[in-house]
Amino acid sequence: MDLFSCLSPFVFCSFASGSSGNCYYVGKQDEGVLVDVGISAKQILNLLAENDIPLSQIKAILITHDHIDHVLGLENLTKLSSIPIYAHSDCLQGIAEGKSTKKVDPQLFREVEPLQPFEVCGITIEAFPVMHDGRGAVGYHFDYEGRTLTIATDIGMLDKVVKEQIRRADNLVIEANYDVEMLEKGPYPYILKQRISSPFGHLSNEESARFVAEIYHAGMKNIMLCHLSENNNTPERAMQCLYQQFQKKRVRLDANTSIFPLPRHKCTGFVYL
Ligand SMILES: [Zn+2]
Ligand SMILES: [Zn+2]
Repeated sequence: MDLFSCLSPFVFCSFASGSSGNCYYVGKQDEGVLVDVGISAKQILNLLAENDIPLSQIKAILITHDHIDHVLGLENLTKLSSIPIYAHSDCLQGIAEGKSTKKVDPQLFREVEPLQPFEVCGITIEAFPVMHDGRGAVGYHFDYEGRTLTIATDIGMLDKVVKEQIRRADNLVIEANYDVEMLEKGPYPYILKQRISSPFGHLSNEESARFVAEIYHAGMKNIMLCHLSENNNTPERAMQCLYQQFQKKRVRLDANTSIFPLPRHKCTGFVYL
């Protein structure tokens, strides 16, 4: 058996993660979807090419919510190729009214109903509502032949629905936005600090670490920390916080579990799910 046939047919790739832009590829070797397009279309095209993914291989763009760091490249990318855009109806409304997205062709809009599975290129996808101050904010759960991935980004608090969707996944992309101490002592104005730490803002390292340590099981293949703040976090702090929680809960990590933060600007290459 060659190496390629040992690898999972279901892959994830992060092109960018954080408040300066988010964009992920989820799919098979020959077709897949983009989750968020919060970097320029030019950057996305370059990153697709670098990873040998032709644009024609992208069958859908799934949007988590209408904040600019998730939709920046949408207008130009869909001008180049008429890729259907899946999002919650409120988010689609936000895109239609958004400063940098209002020229997106509404004929490409596909409304997703929260917790109603749909299929794109053989992958079962389910959107689930999350607490965040973007319009129609959702996370996504993916299932391809029993290989599962949950993307939970931009979340003010982990409510019951989100927790359930995270528990279902053997591969997880979860927000670890800020270190509590760095946010408190950092340069942001009080009102912005309040917004970030509110139930409609972002998840702290501790909030996500505590929950990941609680639900961890040996079948988990990849735990990826996403949307790390540039000013209020470091990859080291986020990872340290997670390992502290594992230690606290006496979690024994399986040798096959990979845990890593997603870089803000660097591509991860294919992560096999
Ligand atoms: Zn964001
Ligand atoms: Zn957001």
